[in-house]
Amino acid sequence: MGQAVYLQTYGCQMNEYDSELIRSILTNRGYHFASTTEEADVVLLNTCAIRENAHRKIYGQLDLFLPIKKQRAKARQPFIVGILGCMAQNLKDELLEHRAVDLVVGPDSYRALPDLIGNIAKTNQPEVAAFLSEYETYSDIAPVRQEGVNAWIAIMRGCDNFCTFCVVPYTRGRERSRSMESILHEVRQLVVMGYPQVTLLGQNVNSYRCGDDDFADLMTAVAQVPGVQRIRFTSPHPKDFPIKLLHVMAEYPNICKHIHLPLQAGSNRILDLMRRTYTAEEYLRLVDTIRDILPMTTLTTDIIIGFPTETEDDFQETVRLVQQVAFDSAYIFKYSERKGTIAAREYPDDVTAEIKTDRIVRLIEIQRQISFHKHQSYIGRKVHVLVEGKSDKQDGHWIGKDDGNITTIFPSPLQTLGETVSIEVQQANSSTLYGVTTDHSVSVAPRGCIPVAGVVTPL
Ligand code: SF4
Repeated sequence: MGQAVYLQTYGCQMNEYDSELIRSILTNRGYHFASTTEEADVVLLNTCAIRENAHRKIYGQLDLFLPIKKQRAKARQPFIVGILGCMAQNLKDELLEHRAVDLVVGPDSYRALPDLIGNIAKTNQPEVAAFLSEYETYSDIAPVRQEGVNAWIAIMRGCDNFCTFCVVPYTRGRERSRSMESILHEVRQLVVMGYPQVTLLGQNVNSYRCGDDDFADLMTAVAQVPGVQRIRFTSPHPKDFPIKLLHVMAEYPNICKHIHLPLQAGSNRILDLMRRTYTAEEYLRLVDTIRDILPMTTLTTDIIIGFPTETEDDFQETVRLVQQVAFDSAYIFKYSERKGTIAAREYPDDVTAEIKTDRIVRLIEIQRQISFHKHQSYIGRKVHVLVEGKSDKQDGHWIGKDDGNITTIFPSPLQTLGETVSIEVQQANSSTLYGVTTDHSVSVAPRGCIPVAGVVTPL
C-alpha cells in the first residue's frame, strides 16, 4: 500500500471541494488516507488566505509538527508536510522558511501532487508548484466526496473582479468555466449516488459562461436533471446579478429560495474604495427586485468592518443598510490586510483594532436582533427540512436546513438522515428554528446518502 496522507481543510466551500479533488488525485496514484497526523506519512493542509487569523492558525499548526518531524527523522520514518491552497499560492517560497514545510502547492497544481510527494520521499528536498493556469478546471476528475447530504460542484474557478481587499484573484487566477455537459454529468452521478442536495460553487457564479449559455441556463439544466431534490449556489456578485436567474428560481421548486448576496459595506465611498462597482442604492434596488419576484427567499450577506479610512459615518451607513434590507443572517468580519492586494498597496490599515472591535460588536448585535425577529415570524409555520444528522446540542434530536438555509432542530426517534421532513416551528432564536415533525416524511433520499459531515475546520 502507498503512503498514508492526512488532509486537513481550512476555509471556504471551494477548498472543501478542492480537497475532494485532491483525495481523488492521490487515491488514483495509490495513496490512502489516515484519520490522524500520527498515522500519516504525509500531512497536507489545504489553506485559506482570506484573513490574518487563517495564517496564524496554519503557522501555529506547523510549529506543532516540528517535534513530530524530529522524532520521525530519528526513527528514519517519513513525515512530509505540505501547504496547499490559497496561502500556498500567495506566499510560495516564503512558506519553506518554516522548518516543518516540505511542499507548497497552489490551487491550479494539484495534478502534480503525487509526483511531488514522491520526489520529496526520494530526495528529501522541498518542492514548490504554484503556477496559475488559464485553463485548469479539473473537470475530468471525479471528486472523492465526504459523507453527508450535500455535494459541492465547482462550476468555475478564479475571479476577474479584483475587489481591492481580496486576495482570491491572485491565489486562484482568472475566471474559467467548466463545460455545462461535465457539470450535468456530475449532477447525474450524484443523483445515482443518493445525494439529495447539490451546491454549485464559483467565486462569482454570475460570470459562468459555456458557449451561449449563462448561469441561469446552467441552473435551468441542473433543475431539470431527474431526481435532483435540492439545488443551492454560492456566491453571486451584486454588480451583475442576473434577473433571469430569479425567474428560473421562481419556476423550479427544487432550487432553494436562498440568496447569499455579499454587501461588504453600506457606504458608497467605501464601496468605491473596495471597487465593488455598485452603490448602496443599486444594492437596495436589487434586493427589492429579488423580493418582488421571490417574496419568500432568504437573504444573507458578508460585511467587512473597518476597511481603511472607514469613519463612524461610513459605519452608520452600513448599519442603516443592514436595517433596511433586514438580512436573515450575515457573516461580519473585521478588515484584515492581505499581502499583494490593491488595498494593501494603496490604503494603510488605519482603523484601529479597538474601533474595529467596537463596530463589529455593535453590528453583530443589530443583526442578531434582526435575525431573531425574522425567525420569530416562522413560529406556527411549516418548513421543509433536509436532515443532515443528529443534533449534538440535544439528545434524541436531529438537525437540518430548511429551504432558506436556516438551521432547524427537531426531536425524532426515527432515522431521518437525508430525508426532507415537514417541521412545524414552535420556537426560534437568532440562529435556529425548533419544531416538531408533522407528517413524517416529505421525501426520502433515493439511496446511499450516508452519515457524518466532512472534516472541515471553519475559520
Ligand atoms: S468578487 Fe471580489 S471578493 Fe469575491 S472573490 Fe472576486 S475579488 Fe474576491
